[in-house]
Amino acid sequence: MATFCIIDDKYIPMYRIMWISAVPHFCGSPDCQHEGDYEIRLEHGESVWASQTERDQTLTALEAWENEPGLEDEELE
Ligand SMILES: [Zn+2]
Repeated sequence: MATFCIIDDKYIPMYRIMWISAVPHFCGSPDCQHEGDYEIRLEHGESVWASQTERDQTLTALEAWENEPGLEDEELE
């Protein structure tokens, strides 16, 4: 079962993902390295940056992961 997804050449544990941007990043800064990338926010205020393809793959992977039965640290009655 997949617990990691690859974003920006890093294996990211899916349980660390807080949110995923719906729109490409734009801040207008000339130094910005992430114009047009999608921000994926992790715990502790960290972010990784994904291309649109990576973001879509991440969303798909997250959905599949959350729908997986038998979450170990959750005791459902
Ligand atoms: Zn920026």
